[in-house]
Amino acid sequence: MVSDKQLQQSDPEIYATIDRERIRQNNGLELIASENFVSTAVLEAMGNVMTNKYAEGLPGHRYYGGCECVDEAERFAIDRACRLFGCRWANVQPHSGAQANMSLYYTLLKPGDTFMGMDLAHGGHLTHGSPVNFSGRTYHVVSYGVAKETGRIDFDLLAKTAREAKPKLIMTGSSAYPRVWELAKFRELADELGAYLVCDMAHFAGLVAGKVHPDVVPFCHVVSTTTHKTLRGPRGGLLISNEPGGELLLPGMLKPKTITEALDSWVFPGVQGGPLMHVIAAKAVAFGEALQPEFKTYAQQVVKNAKVLAESLLSLGYTLVSGGTDTHLILMDLSSKGWTGKAAEKALEKAGITVNKNMVPFDPQKPMTTSGIRIGTPAVTTRGMGEADMKKIASVIDKTLKNMENEAVLTTIKSEVAELVRSFPLYPKPLVLRGV
Ligand SMILES: *Cc1c(COP(=O)(O)O)cnc(C)c1O
Repeated sequence: MVSDKQLQQSDPEIYATIDRERIRQNNGLELIASENFVSTAVLEAMGNVMTNKYAEGLPGHRYYGGCECVDEAERFAIDRACRLFGCRWANVQPHSGAQANMSLYYTLLKPGDTFMGMDLAHGGHLTHGSPVNFSGRTYHVVSYGVAKETGRIDFDLLAKTAREAKPKLIMTGSSAYPRVWELAKFRELADELGAYLVCDMAHFAGLVAGKVHPDVVPFCHVVSTTTHKTLRGPRGGLLISNEPGGELLLPGMLKPKTITEALDSWVFPGVQGGPLMHVIAAKAVAFGEALQPEFKTYAQQVVKNAKVLAESLLSLGYTLVSGGTDTHLILMDLSSKGWTGKAAEKALEKAGITVNKNMVPFDPQKPMTTSGIRIGTPAVTTRGMGEADMKKIASVIDKTLKNMENEAVLTTIKSEVAELVRSFPLYPKPLVLRGV
């Protein structure tokens, strides 16, 4: 294990940069809905000698010798992922959520096939068919979205569109939709059309694991996720499935395979090369943490905090897409105030609060400007903040937005924010950098 002292001596420049990032994380109010803070154990597990190992293939079936230890780490990760989500099969190798999605599209579709995904401006993800992403360039994409009046998925329109477009796959899940996904009716529709149903639970996997979001696994042929958002693991991807299979001849395959066998071979060699075994070890640690009873308490608190933050913002006169949240995230629509997401993001940053500008459904603004900001509670909840702190956060957000042009006020708010986060220490000195 490389100690941080060694890094400090051998590369003071990068050491200093990383330390400044640690300080930035400690001192800021992190409200980016897709971010979180991993435990010291996860950090330690990431910084280890398994980074040296080539392990193409799967445990017990590798293209390289010397894999007995990494096999064990990967088996732990697979087993824990299966226990966590109640499934029979998992592939823990995807380097990221995007790679997990690429692998499953390659498995279930051939280029030019039609699939349905949520519109990016309505909360979907780039990999759900955006024209600037491989998914939008490789496949014929038909989007669905929310109803203007409710901010909730317009399922009737979705079903009508699906019956016309006859997609081979329906992608569910999102990055900026504040409501839960209830997939029973999606599965009924998919079955009617003979389509695959997939859920990308990248944002809310931790809420599913903590049982505060309805389960998605029983309804889907395949579920993909990231491991670093609400799930609070290292940066990476994960595929899981409960498909019993049956032999299938899927596109690009010479011999029939089950869906899960095909998924395994589309992760590697289809999409990726050698797995990141040190990250897989850290995924195993994170899944182990998520299996503990404390994680359920954490997930419950994430949602409670988001609800209180939403209610506080509503009572201050703000508009929230869909009128609130039942997850970890809130989408504020600032258009009625005449403000843009871009300006709000910048002012909040000056006040020490990190959020991201985000399109709202039917947004008249461009993606680089937007009318909205997306706010999430996973990271501040990890720090230990509770409902009373959410009320304070709503009030500093309000004060910031009302003083966007007033540098002096923003500076004062910044010190108030620093004061608030100081009571919730994060990564202390000596530097927790064993992840390097
Ligand atoms: C974050 C996210 C991804 C992509 O994950 P990366 O690890 O950044 O590639 C995919 N899908 C959804 C819904 C996401 O929110």
